[in-house]
Amino acid sequence: MIPLDFSYFRPTTLEEALDILSEEGMIPILGSTDVVVKLRARRLKPKGVVDLKAIEELHSFSFSKEEGMVIGAAVTMNELIEDHPEVKENYPVFYQAIKKVGAYQTRNRATVAGNIGNSSPAADSVPPLLTYNAKLKLVSKEGERTVELKDFFTGPGKNILKQGEIIHSIIVPYEGPSIGMYYKLSRIKAVDLSTIGVALTVIDPDGKRDIRIALASVAPTPIRVFEAEDFIRGKELTPEVVDEFAKIVQKNTSPITDTRGTKEYRYEMAYVLPKKILRELGLYEEVS
Ligand SMILES: Cc1cc2nc3c(=O)[nH]c(=O)nc-3n(C[C@H](O)[C@H](O)[C@H](O)COP(=O)(O)OP(=O)(O)OC[C@H]3O[C@@H](n4cnc5c(N)ncnc54)[C@H](O)[C@@H]3O)c2cc1C
Repeated sequence: MIPLDFSYFRPTTLEEALDILSEEGMIPILGSTDVVVKLRARRLKPKGVVDLKAIEELHSFSFSKEEGMVIGAAVTMNELIEDHPEVKENYPVFYQAIKKVGAYQTRNRATVAGNIGNSSPAADSVPPLLTYNAKLKLVSKEGERTVELKDFFTGPGKNILKQGEIIHSIIVPYEGPSIGMYYKLSRIKAVDLSTIGVALTVIDPDGKRDIRIALASVAPTPIRVFEAEDFIRGKELTPEVVDEFAKIVQKNTSPITDTRGTKEYRYEMAYVLPKKILRELGLYEEVS
């Protein structure tokens, strides 16, 4: 096999990193859990990799009800699960989803920024973040911009990042208490990408009860189904309403067949799972 030939950089300041990354062929890395797999398979042939983990400011985490949660790009999933109780308390659906990423060892390295940067339609952290209206702070040598997560992905493995631009942090607004569920179906229980992932979040469950839904592995990118949310908003959750809600979710998917499942199965589950989640959350009862 042809040996891998690329340079490795480990800058300690953001300025230095952005400088190196501005050159064509340079890519950023964090936990490398996706990158190493692609390098070994020769699906990635970078001129150089820029390891961002030594940059102190990318390890920051903060939460306040006014500013929401701000996750630095280099914060690992295990840090979010174990060191920051605010995550579980205020964003329970996101917490459930990152707990379902790989195994403990993977989550010790894997970051949410890497999950987003990899831009797989199966990225588990993304559907819940979509339901929580997450934004991304992007930085490059040219400056910074903030974009909505829903506008970030352009196709499988594709996104709006320009050469030299990286995710600096993930900003998740706090819109009130929430309940919900991330339901992940995969071929095996542990360590597998999703055949389908459904995040259903209810913001302010005892008040305005705003139901939001987003899915992984049913379209070229993770999707949030605003049409279904608009339909169900303010309605009593009768079996008919919930059934129509699930049908609208299903209609908005465009699944494919791959090694993890057939398009027919995914399409069926896109209808079954929203109803199942609402039932398991105790928000409606099915009549038999
Ligand atoms: C055994 C195993 C199991 C897995 N299970 C799951 C799973 O269940 N669910 C799931 O969703 N994923 C899973 N993955 C995939 C992977 O672990 C996740 O996508 C992870 O979150 C990637 O994070 P990372 O920090 O390792 O990213 P890296 O591998 O370092 O980078 C991933 C991509 O993002 C880019 N990137 C890195 N940093 C930035 C940045 N700051 N800004 C912009 N782009 C950046 C890289 O160039 C690369 O394209 C698994 C991987 C393995 C090896």
